[in-house]
Amino acid sequence: TACYDILVIGGGSAGIATAASILRRRPDVSLAIVEPSEDHYYQPGWTMVGGGVFAAEVTRRGEAGLIPAGAEWIRGAAASFDPANDRVTLVDGRVIGYGALIVCPGLKLDWDAIPGLGATLGSNGVTSNYRYDLAPYTDRLVRRFRGGRALFTQPPMPIKCAGAPQKAMYLSCHRWERAGLLGQADVQFHNAAPALFGVAAYVPALESYIARYGIDLQLESRLVSIDGTAKVALFEQKRGDMVRRVEERFDMIHVVPPQVAPDFIAASPLAAPSGFIAVDEATLRHPLHVNVFALGDVAATTNAKTAAAARKQAPVAALNALAALDGAAPVAAYNGYGSCPLTVEAGKIILAEFGYGGKLLPTFPKWLIEGTRPSRLSWLLKEKILPPLYWHGMLRGREWLAAPEPLGKGG
Ligand code: FAD
Repeated sequence: TACYDILVIGGGSAGIATAASILRRRPDVSLAIVEPSEDHYYQPGWTMVGGGVFAAEVTRRGEAGLIPAGAEWIRGAAASFDPANDRVTLVDGRVIGYGALIVCPGLKLDWDAIPGLGATLGSNGVTSNYRYDLAPYTDRLVRRFRGGRALFTQPPMPIKCAGAPQKAMYLSCHRWERAGLLGQADVQFHNAAPALFGVAAYVPALESYIARYGIDLQLESRLVSIDGTAKVALFEQKRGDMVRRVEERFDMIHVVPPQVAPDFIAASPLAAPSGFIAVDEATLRHPLHVNVFALGDVAATTNAKTAAAARKQAPVAALNALAALDGAAPVAAYNGYGSCPLTVEAGKIILAEFGYGGKLLPTFPKWLIEGTRPSRLSWLLKEKILPPLYWHGMLRGREWLAAPEPLGKGG
């Protein structure tokens, strides 16, 4: 059985950032990353791909080039955990031991939860920015649209980047507005949540865009099935004490699928009742297993599931895992920071930044960026600054804008 000081499950945003952070702090530690995919994706860029701003290719890089120097890449997928014996078993049967375990394989997009969706995705005007290969189809549909009905959906929480369903819609509407087509567009937003956005401070500015684009906002309306060839979507809507089902015809539909914990995580002894991994909200440590940590989308924490959250969590998980390796108590705390740059029009963003409990946590002073209002500087940040910050900062363990807080001051 191979054994490492630190074993990381998943080489996505959280896994690479945490591994890099650990090796920067302690280069002599033995560390391996279990990751099945040859490709690594900058998913926050997919909104821009669907909006016709980025080419899809700029959001994908080879995993090999991102594995930090000093880390070993184990090409495979984790299948099960044995935390009592500090061991992980891979799908191919390999067993790997560890001193400390960091679990971050992301979440599962549950396309199959919507009957009819899998069969029609990528055709019949049915698209989603939540897949690398489909975000360019969103761009094509929006460009070819000559009027008609466009539907946008948002499933129940939790989802990664809770603003992304509306970002796709606003960028589409803005393009139709510019092309003089908005008058012929009948746009509906079906959001399973009871509010437009989970943090109230950002709602008024978003509502003004709903009004400007003439969007028919349907709250507590959940997509339940879709018939691609007939171009009809079925929604279940809560209206007062009643639940009703409504069919809507469409010319195009942007679907965001329901999102759950990966199956092997939900079935593991590390899972919380929700299926995601149980961890302390501040230290990111498992409540029972003191050498097990989780971060990123797989953690059962209440922050916004974003790469921005992973950026802040990575040094916390790194410091606390190193402490665990030394037999010491956790030293760093995560405050729930997450960020959602809401692309309300090409060139302007409402930069939502908040922590646990919806507490606003702006990175910049108000005179530079007022997060609750549309800002050109925020767009510049999203288009030009955040991608290099991701590839060259976060994934290299350079903690620009991510200095961890000591435990006790967090929260
Ligand atoms: P991921 O980055 O998804 O990585 C998980 C990794 O685990 C993958 O490499 C996968 O191959 C691997 N893996 C899976 N199963 C196994 C297994 N069994 N064993 C080992 N490895 C496994 N965030 C923002 O901050 N800002 C945004 O504007 C933003 N916009 C978004 C827009 C869209 C359309 C989408 C889809 C996401 C967006 N996000 C945004 C969210 C962000 O991409 C995620 O929150 C972030 O990638 C989470 O990082 P992660 O490492 O937990 O998961």
